[in-house]
Parts: sequence; C-alpha cells; structure tokens
Amino acid sequence: MAKVFLITGGAGFIGSAVARELLVNTDHHVVNVDKLTYAGNLESLVDVADSPRYTFIQADICDAPAMQRVFAEHRPDVVMHLAAESHVDRSIDGPAEFIQTNVVGTSVLLEAARGYWKALQESDPEKAAGFRFHHISTDEVYGDLEGTDDLFTETTSYAPSSPYSASKAGSDHLVRAWHRTFGLPTLITNCSNNYGPYHFPEKLIPLMILNALAGKPLPVYGDGQQIRDWLYVEDHARALIKVATGGQVGETYNIGGHNEKTNLEVVETICALVDELRPDVHGDQPPASSLITFVADRPGHDLRYAIDAGKIERDLGWVPEETFETGLRKTVEWYLNNRDWWQRVMDGSYQGERLGVGV
Ligand code: NAD
Repeated sequence: MAKVFLITGGAGFIGSAVARELLVNTDHHVVNVDKLTYAGNLESLVDVADSPRYTFIQADICDAPAMQRVFAEHRPDVVMHLAAESHVDRSIDGPAEFIQTNVVGTSVLLEAARGYWKALQESDPEKAAGFRFHHISTDEVYGDLEGTDDLFTETTSYAPSSPYSASKAGSDHLVRAWHRTFGLPTLITNCSNNYGPYHFPEKLIPLMILNALAGKPLPVYGDGQQIRDWLYVEDHARALIKVATGGQVGETYNIGGHNEKTNLEVVETICALVDELRPDVHGDQPPASSLITFVADRPGHDLRYAIDAGKIERDLGWVPEETFETGLRKTVEWYLNNRDWWQRVMDGSYQGERLGVGV
C-alpha cells in the first residue's frame, strides 16, 4: 500500500537520491522538508518535482511549530531524517551550526514525531502501529579503526573525533532514548562515505573530478593514506528504503559498500577515468594525476573507517549493486554529462530560485 514518506534534507545529496528512488520506482508519496542551506539544491529533484506524489516544504527542522504543522497536515507513515550539516571541514571552522541542526534539530523532530504518533494511537491505531522514524547517521560516530582488519559493527562503541561526528553521535543517542523511554518506533542506520551523481562539489570525489576537468590542483590531505569504505549513493538509497519499510523497530543497521580505498587510490582512479572519458583531451596534455598536490592534514583526521554490513544483508537481503569501479565510472560520466547542474552550483545560481511552500 502506498505510504507517505516525510524526508528531511530531501534537497541534499542522499535525501534527493532517496526521493528520486521512491518517486521513480515505488508508488509512495514524498514530502520533502528542507531548509535549503547551501547544501540544499532543488535542481537535484527536477526530474521528479512534477510528480503528483511529491510535495516540497521549505522549513527548518529546529522550528518546532513548523514541524508540528508538517506532521499534522501530511500525516506521514515513515519519517526518514537526513537533514544535517554534513561537512567535516565546516564543522571544524564553525561547530555551532552542527550542534544546532544535528542535535537540537533532531530533538525537535523527535518531539514533533512523538506528539503526532501519540495522537495517532488514539485516532488511527493501525496507522500508529505502522509508523516508523528512521534516523540516517554515519559510521564516523565510531571514530577511527587502528587495525587493518577491524570493522565497525552495530555494537562498536561510539568514539567520534570531529564536531560533525560528535553531533551525529549525539543525535543517535537521542533517537535511541526516544525509543527506549517513549517507545517511539525508531530505526537507525550508520553508513560509510557516499559518492555519486548530484554530490556537492566540496566533497572529495566531485571536487577531484571537477578540478581535474579544469586542470586545477588536486589537494590530497596529508599522505593520502586515510582509508574510507565507499558506497554508491543509489545503493544507499535502496538500503535506506529497505530498512525504513522492513527493518526491526529499535534496531541499528550499518550500511557499507565493501569498497575500502585510500584517499590517494580514489584520486588516482578518478584521474585515470577523467583522462579516459573527457571529450576535450589532447594528446600532449599531461595526465590528470600530475595535478595531485599533498596539503597539510585535517586536524583530528581519522585514519580508517570500514563497515561490517553483514546484518543488513542477513536480515533484509540488501547488498550493493555497484562496485567501486562501476560506480565511479558512472559518477565521472554523470559529471561530464551534467555540466549545467554543477556549473550552477559553482557560480551560486542554484540558490536563486526558492520554490515550494514555506511554513
Ligand atoms: P547534504 O549536506 O548533502 O544535505 C543535507 C540537507 O539537509 C541539505 O539539503 C540541507 O539544506 C538540509 N538541511 C540542513 N540543515 C537543515 C535544517 N536545519 N532544517 C532542514 N533542512 C536542513 O548531506 P548528505 O550527504 O545528503 O547527508 C544526508 C545525511 O546522511 C546526513 O544526516 C549525514 O550525516 C548522513 N550521512 C552522509 C554520508 C555521506 O557520505 N554523504 C555518509 C553517512 C551518513
């Protein structure tokens, strides 16, 4: 039966992938609540924005009356909470916004969800029984892995290193507490690094693709030996929908791509793909890898993250469809074929139009 999905942060990188997946491949309805910070881009949703099953509301998750109205008016069956400040470097430059959105905003949303769900238990017990609050978090809450074989599991202790990961850890604890104390039917997922189409060009992979295309330096932190487990964003979106619709209430699921790579390997693979795929290449042009430049490391930089995604595979039958090679090729091709999207991000014009209903 078609459900109403309330997605927070649906104009962001992962939220827009979830919205596109729901609108293209299911019958469900999507209500996208997004403040449209610098990271929110409605142009990532142009292919689905005309769907009669899609509604956009520009609002801040920290605004309690606005969130209460959204719940009352749209009566969601599932909340998928992705709205967050998400860039580690920005959290080092200015942590306050991270505490506000990621911690305070999550508590406001939890309270709005709890009020709605309690009222629903009286008015529509069947709908209340099916209600789910799915909080989308990161593997960065687990901190750093020292050994080369260790993996983060759902029971790994929290040890966040950056203001970003600490704020996400705080939000995870709030969600667990709202389940334990108030019985709110919650689910949590902790995911590894995503990459793919519509990724804001401040993050490693799109930044390297666009700098390589422009012949600009490719800045690699430290010695580039930091290891991340990369997950193609559309695989993540499919995993999230599986958890939101079939996961066990109160449980946590780790989601990873089985693709551990050093940052330097990632950049070198991008360089090879750009050399191969760019249309304007000249025989005498130096290889993109000649642009690699090592820069001072990020403070508190975690060395290795790696996910054991066995539980979601065993319990929900999810495995990623893309390998790193196939996903990265698709990503470079997407950036080559969608210059308008990223040029409008780079020159700021993507924030010119603010469509939708303000609350
Ligand atoms: P993003 O930065 O691309 O998007 C965040 C979205 O949230 C934007 O559209 C922004 O406008 C919106 N937003 C920010 N503050 C808001 C507020 N106060 N009220 C309403 N909307 C607000 O982030 P992303 O990469 O899509 O990540 C989505 C979620 O997934 C985040 O919670 C992040 O912590 C988590 N996550 C991301 C990754 C990754 O690799 N990108 C990995 C694991 C987990």
